[in-house]
Amino acid sequence: MSVQSIDNLQHVIDHDLCNRCGTCVGLSGGSIVFGDKTGDYLPGVIADISPDLADRIWNACPGKNFDFPGYRKLHFSEAPHFHLYTGAYQNIFIGYANDENVRRNSASGGILTAILLWLLKNRLIDGAVVTRMSKKEPWLAETFIATTPEGIIEAAQSKYIITSVNEILPQMEAFEGKLAYVGLPGQVQGIRKLQAANDPSVRNIEYIFGPFYGNTLHFSSIKSFLRSHGERNFKDIASLHFRYGEWPGNMRIEMKNGRVIQLPKFHANYLIPFHILKNSLLCTDLSNEFTDISGGDAWAPVYEERGKGFSMVIARSVKGKEILAKMAADNVISLQEIDENEAITMHSHGYDLKKRGSFIRMKFRSLVGLPNPDYGYELKDFPFGRYLMELVVTSLFMFLGTPIARWVVERIPPSFIGRIFEKSRTVWKRSTYKIKRSNLT
Ligand SMILES: Cc1cc2nc3c(=O)[nH]c(=O)nc-3n(C[C@H](O)[C@H](O)[C@H](O)COP(=O)(O)OP(=O)(O)OC[C@H]3O[C@@H](n4cnc5c(N)ncnc54)[C@H](O)[C@@H]3O)c2cc1C
Repeated sequence: MSVQSIDNLQHVIDHDLCNRCGTCVGLSGGSIVFGDKTGDYLPGVIADISPDLADRIWNACPGKNFDFPGYRKLHFSEAPHFHLYTGAYQNIFIGYANDENVRRNSASGGILTAILLWLLKNRLIDGAVVTRMSKKEPWLAETFIATTPEGIIEAAQSKYIITSVNEILPQMEAFEGKLAYVGLPGQVQGIRKLQAANDPSVRNIEYIFGPFYGNTLHFSSIKSFLRSHGERNFKDIASLHFRYGEWPGNMRIEMKNGRVIQLPKFHANYLIPFHILKNSLLCTDLSNEFTDISGGDAWAPVYEERGKGFSMVIARSVKGKEILAKMAADNVISLQEIDENEAITMHSHGYDLKKRGSFIRMKFRSLVGLPNPDYGYELKDFPFGRYLMELVVTSLFMFLGTPIARWVVERIPPSFIGRIFEKSRTVWKRSTYKIKRSNLT
C-alpha cells in the first residue's frame, strides 16, 4: 500500500496536479522535500517512508481530489446561502480595516491582518500561521507562526510567487496554544482533509482564513522581471513586495545597491501568462470556499477609483460571521453588506477563469489523456464561443510559457506591455459581465 501511495503521489507531481501546498513535505518528517524553490518548486521523495505514513500523506493530498459538496456539507451545512461560484456563505461585505496603517500596509483592505490582530489581542488565538517574505532570502516567501502583532503585520500583503504553507505542519502540531491559519485554497483543502482524518498536525487550528486565489507564478517571473530591467542576479534583491503602496499597489523590488524597480500591480500582471503555475489553471476555487472567512479585492470602479484599499469579505461559518460582527462593533473594521449578484459581477472575470475556464481546460486535458483532479462536481455545457475562447487562451498560455516568448517579452519595456495587459483585463471584465446568468449546469 505504501509503495502504491508513493507512486500515486509521484503521479500527481508528474502531471501538474501538485499545487505545492506543502502537505506531503510537512507530514513526511524530512523524507519528502521541495527541490529548488527558485526553479520548479516540486516535492521529491528522498528517503524511505513507512507504509502508514505514506497512506497518511496520500489521503491528505488535495492535488488528486477534493470533494467540494462533501466538505461543504461537513463544514457549512448551516450556511443560509450557496452559489456554485461563491461557495457557501453567511454574508458578503465590502470592508476595510479602520487602522490606516494596517489598511495601507496590506494587500487590499487589510481585513485579514485586522482579523488576526483582533483575535490575538482578545486572546482567542495564541498564534497565526502566516506567510512573509524571508529575512534570509528576501526573494522567497516563508511561512511561520506569528505570536505578536508585529509578526502578523510583517506578513501582510499578497505574495504572488509559489508558497507552501503546509510545510510547517510539524511546527503547528508542536505549538502550544490555539492557532489561526491563513492559506490559499489548495493549502486550505489539505488542512480540511487532515481535519477530517483527525490528524494531530492540525489539532491546534481554531480558525481558517484565506485570500481569494486567481493564480500564482513561478519564481521565473521575478528573474524575468529583473532581466527586463537589466538586473541579472536575484540574490541582489534586498526586498520584494507585490502590493506596495496605495491599493491596488505596486510590484516593487529594492536591490542591495539601492536601486528601486517598481510597476503598478495591474501592469505587473503581464507576467502571468509567461510564468503562471499550471496547476493554478486547474483550481476551481476563486474565493477560498472552505475558510471561515475569505478576503479578496473589491474590484469595481467605484472602489478602484478611491484607492486606499477595499476588500471583499465572505463570512462562511457562524464563527466567521460572529468575528466580523464583533470586530465591527469594536470599530476595528468597517463593513457594508452587498448581495451575491454584486459580488459575482465584481469578480466575473475571476469566476470565468475558475468556474468555466478550469472545467474546460480539464476537458481538453482529458481529450489528450491527461488526468484531472476530482472535485466532486462539474460545471459544463457552456456556450460554444466559451470553448473556442478557451482554445485560444490555452494556446496563448502554452506559447507564452515557452523560453522564446519569455526571451522576447524581456526585450519590451514592462511599462508598455503592462499597459496592454491592463486594457485586456478591462475587455475581459466587460465580456464576462453577465456571467451569473449564463449557463450553469
Ligand atoms: C497568490 C494570490 C492570488 C490572488 N488572486 C486574487 C484574485 O484573483 N482576485 C482577488 O480579488 N484577490 C486575489 N488575491 C487576494 C488579494 O490579493 C488579497 O490577499 C485579499 O484581498 C486580502 O486582502 P487583505 O488586505 O485583507 O489581506 P492582508 O491583510 O494583506 O493579509 C494577507 C494574508 O494572506 C497571507 N498570504 C499572502 N500571500 C499568501 C500566499 N501566497 N500564500 C499563503 N498566504 C498568503 C498573508 O500571510 C496574510 O496573512 C490573491 C492573493 C494571493 C496571495
